[in-house]
Formats: sequence, structure tokens, C-alpha cells
Amino acid sequence: MTKNKPGFSTLAIHAGAQPDPTTGARVTPIYQTASFVFNDADHAASLFGLQAFGNIYTRIMNPTQAVLEERVAALEGGTAALAVASGHAAQLLVFHTIMRPGDNFIAARRLYGGSINQFGHAFKNFDWHVRWADTDDLSTFESQIDDKTKGIFIESLANPGGTFVDIAGIAEIAHRHGLPLIVDNTMATPYLLRPLEHGADIVVHSLTKFMGGHGNSMGGIIVDGGTFDWSASGKYPALSEPRPEYAGMVLHSTFGNFAFAIACRVLGLRDFGPAISPFNAFQLLTGIETLPLRMQRHSDNALAVATWLKGHDKVAWVNYAGLDDHPNHALQQRYAPKGAGAVFTIGLKGGYEAGKRFVEGLEMISHLANIGDTRSLVIHPASTTHRQLSEEQQVAAGAGPDVVRLSIGIEDAADIIADIEQALAKA
Ligand SMILES: *Cc1c(COP(=O)(O)O)cnc(C)c1O
Repeated sequence: MTKNKPGFSTLAIHAGAQPDPTTGARVTPIYQTASFVFNDADHAASLFGLQAFGNIYTRIMNPTQAVLEERVAALEGGTAALAVASGHAAQLLVFHTIMRPGDNFIAARRLYGGSINQFGHAFKNFDWHVRWADTDDLSTFESQIDDKTKGIFIESLANPGGTFVDIAGIAEIAHRHGLPLIVDNTMATPYLLRPLEHGADIVVHSLTKFMGGHGNSMGGIIVDGGTFDWSASGKYPALSEPRPEYAGMVLHSTFGNFAFAIACRVLGLRDFGPAISPFNAFQLLTGIETLPLRMQRHSDNALAVATWLKGHDKVAWVNYAGLDDHPNHALQQRYAPKGAGAVFTIGLKGGYEAGKRFVEGLEMISHLANIGDTRSLVIHPASTTHRQLSEEQQVAAGAGPDVVRLSIGIEDAADIIADIEQALAKA
């Protein structure tokens, strides 16, 4: 590439990729193979001992995955990355690397519902404990930290309400206590916001959503910011103490500012096995090439739709941080001035029944449980994802009976509005 530092759109297309050295293929090939031939026995031994980098077996590493990793690391401004099968797998491997039984971490209460389940239920089986904090009152993060706390986890732009968070403020609390800040950047993507620039230490993504962007492939990634000192406190023995399975190697002193990504790969991915398929890595790479164009269009369309909805007499409220009277608007302007993303919630005056009828009345907009597709999507949480909760619990989760969540796609804004208009007429 040219000598000047490439811009974001250039990196989205070129970072990590070169023409294939043997065939000249310009697009990164799908290396659909389980394993790779060693040069000789010494080469094999050095790969297994982590003395040399190279491909062994696709559960641990694969050339198509490697391009995806290098590309996302470049877009987020990190030192290295590890691509895995899903966003949830990424979160599991991050916590596996920093937690020991009996430890806890602090997480924002406002998270993707699947993350609330993973942290609150599945992680208990490892004796890892989440303590919920409130992003509107940062003291709730600090007051729950004790000597068993190993990290803080937030979403940069929180699902489902589309709320922005004071990342730098929370990073300061984490660092004052010697803890890493882990940020789920799925909803914002590095096009709108780069958490590492605001003090985050690790970024995770569900690549399934806006990064891949077409609703066709699952994937997740962990990006190592390269800034956290894993050896300072003795709290992170996986990184700072000798590893028995690697002849006593200490990962942090051996791999320095990309030791976290290595640890997630050679301890977590190796032993739990949630590898991304080369085909999905290829699909996600193709999606990422247009990330800047798509995210700008998603945000511009969402602002147009939210503005139109605010003026509609069947709509009680619109919760979109891109609107200038939203309580988070100042945070949005500070952290993501290019746009507020695609996802927001609205409330219909007719409550539960109106919400259900509205969702059923939509024609182009799809009723399903996903976000971040090119297509506009909708869900009525109270009758679907949150239906097992009491009304009180639904309201606390931001999923009360009247709430409808939209993920605005990149169709023509006029067509999205026309579909919503006819469905509101029926609600
Ligand atoms: C979907 C999602 C996840 C989980 O990712 P999967 O790829 O579905 O495992 C995590 N965080 C956020 C914000 C999400 O939207």
C-alpha cells in the first residue's frame, strides 16, 4: 500500500489482504481445509510449541480467518484480533482468559438480552459472577469493585434502546482499579466509534450484525488493544504465569502487546473450540468492504425514519439518540458524531395490541430476531423475546408492552417510511 497512513474506507477493503501468492486470486480465497502440511518435523514442533507462527489446524488458525482478524484489528486500531464462531463465543473466550472460579466482573445493566443470559446464568456454572451497574450513574460501577473483580464490560451503543455510554469515564474507573475495560462495539461498529481511542482495552463484536451486514453469516471477534498491563497485579495468571502446556512459557512476557489475543487463541479457542468456518470468514470479509457506506446509510435512514415517526399521532415516543432532544444526544455527538446507528425503539399509544398489530401489518420490513441486516427489521419484544417476563420486568428491561424495536436497513428511506405508515394505519 501507499506510504501515507490509509484511511478507514481503504482499510475496510485492503487491510490484511494480498493477492494469493500461488494463484494470483485477488479476493481472499476460502481456505476450506481442516489442516495444513508441515515443512518438516522441526517446523511442526516449533508451531506446536508457539516458537513459530503458522497454520496447523483450522480450529486454531486458518488463512481466511487471519485476513478477517487483521482487517478488524486495523479498523478498530488494535494490535491483533481473534475471529470466532459468534459474538457469544468471543465473550466466553474473553472472560475465560481473565476469570478464575469465584471471581466477578462489573457489567452494564443495559446489554443485548443474550449477553444478560450468558453472564447471569451460563457463567455461574464456571463460578464467574456478574454485578450489574447503571450507565446513567457511573458510581454504581466503582462501588461494586472488590479484590475478586477482574474487568468491566459495557456496550458502546447499547441494545435495544440505542443509548450511548461515557466510555472514557468508565475506562478511568477501570484503570484506577487496575482492571481492563471490555467494550462490545457491535451496534456502533468502528466506522461510527472506536472504543480503543476512548480508553477501552479489549473490543468484542458480534460480526453477525453490522460488520458482516447482510444477515447471512454468524461470527464474532476479539480485538486486543495492546495497552493493558497483564502482569502488573498478579490478577491475570493465564497471561502472567508460566503455562504448563507450553513448556512454562509466560504469554505476556513472550507476546507483549498482543498477548491477550494469543491467550484467547491458544488457551480458549484451542480448548473450547468455537472456530469460525472459513466460508463465514469470507462472507464477513466481503461485507466489511462496504462497512463505511452501509453504516452511514443506516444512520442517515434511521434519523430520517425517527424524525418522521416523532410527528406521527399514533406514536407515543421515539427513543433515538440521533434526535437532538434525546437525553444521550450530547454523548452521541461526542462519541459518534457521524451518526447514531440503525437501531432504536418506539412506543405506540395503543400499547401491547397496537404493537402486535403494527408488527404484523408491516410488508417490506421483516419481523425477526436480528439487527444489522441490509434489510429493515422489526420486533415487538413484549410478545416475543421478553414474553416470559412480568410486565414490571419488561418495563425495567426497556421492553414494556408498547415498545417496538426497529433496525433500519439501507433501502430507500421513503420506502421504509411508506411501509411503516401503512402498518401504523392498521395498528
Ligand atoms: C447479537 C449480539 C451479540 C451476540 O452475538 P452472536 O453473534 O449472536 O453470538 C452480542 N452483543 C450484541 C450487542 C449483539 O447484538
